[in-house]
Amino acid sequence: MTQSFGFDTLQIHAGARPDPATGARQVPIYQTTAYVFRDADHAAALFNLQEVGYIYSRLTNPTVAALGERLAALEGGAGAVCTSSGHAAQLMALYPLMGPGKNIVSSTRLYGGTITQFTQVFKRFGWSTNFVDTDDLAAVEAAIDENTRAIFCETIANPGGYVTDIPALAAIADKHGIPLVVDNTTATPYLCNPIAMGATLVVHSTTKYLTGNGTVTGGAIIDSGKFDWSQNDKFPSLSAPEPAYHGLKFHETFGSLAYTFFSIAIGLRDLGMTMNPQAAHYTLMGVETLSLRMEKHVANAGKVAAWLEKHPAVEAVTYPGLDSSPYKARAERLLPKGAGALFTIALKGGYDACVKLVDSLELFSHVANLGDARSLVIHSASTTHRQLTPEQQVAAGAAPNVVRLSIGIENPEDIIADLEQALAKASA
Ligand SMILES: *Cc1c(COP(=O)(O)O)cnc(C)c1O
Repeated sequence: MTQSFGFDTLQIHAGARPDPATGARQVPIYQTTAYVFRDADHAAALFNLQEVGYIYSRLTNPTVAALGERLAALEGGAGAVCTSSGHAAQLMALYPLMGPGKNIVSSTRLYGGTITQFTQVFKRFGWSTNFVDTDDLAAVEAAIDENTRAIFCETIANPGGYVTDIPALAAIADKHGIPLVVDNTTATPYLCNPIAMGATLVVHSTTKYLTGNGTVTGGAIIDSGKFDWSQNDKFPSLSAPEPAYHGLKFHETFGSLAYTFFSIAIGLRDLGMTMNPQAAHYTLMGVETLSLRMEKHVANAGKVAAWLEKHPAVEAVTYPGLDSSPYKARAERLLPKGAGALFTIALKGGYDACVKLVDSLELFSHVANLGDARSLVIHSASTTHRQLTPEQQVAAGAAPNVVRLSIGIENPEDIIADLEQALAKASA
């Protein structure tokens, strides 16, 4: 599928062609574990990576491959790998770059579970994370040392209505010969293309807007195909001979697809965090309407945020589309189609008012999720960010008096009416 089609066309057609066996127009759910080899030579060529084809669904599956191709097209990448969840995508994204004693430089403003993954779990692999305020570019540079293997950030940082200056971070990453990895979950490729701004890798929790209906967990890594893995000796998994494939060098052999091939042939094969074909099917269905949904999410979020900002019980609204946001200008530059639909409100009544608000909302669902067609609410400090220290909570935009809203695609007046009745109870 050529890159010259527009976004609305690609979100329906990229990666999908009529099924060669049946002519089925929609991508079939290839519910199979294994694929029959033509003969012994064919099997050997596949196992040696001399020929590309299907072996076993832990590595590749045609339904999952269609989704990967579609996401690569939408993000403007060379290749993509789908995973069982967004967290799996993060681990899989860093795995080819890292090793014991290596570190990443990461934004402090992240999804709560990501902070826990980076600080608690990666530690057991001997990986460490240097957290920095990514608005302080000098601090970002100062945090990079000879063992740094990537810079990590989120486009619209969850939960705080913060927009990351991706081009500035990409320039620093380039200067140090390391990739910039951007979690683009909250913006989606419709609102932002990190690769066009210099990112090397994009990760997604497809669980969120890409699927858009709260049905399945999934993740994806999209490789720009533009990073020179042989420019230094920092990335031996991609540039040096690979013992698990008879000394094959991924970068030399696969060029711009080196990272994608490694992530399938080693990452999925040996870590096994594979997306299943049912999940890929649901996400393919969701992606077909991504642009339409994002337009509506953004329009609703703008109306709801502007209304909330005027409410007497509300102390602050972090929506980057508001004139009052310190990130308004950056949002207009990096997210010209809209600043997403995820933001927080701080309540004058503090922690107790937040809990009351969450319990009083009726149309909003109180769930640990975002990016659903439904409007969602969560009190981050008592849920997703409760494992963090008070300082980490504040740094992550999840202070105790803050509630996160994920604005859905219902009628905006209904969303506002629900907030109005709940705020009345919360401030009574
Ligand atoms: C949800 C989320 C994740 C984790 O994804 P899962 O699919 O839940 O594993 C990572 N990053 C962001 C920004 C998210 O919203």
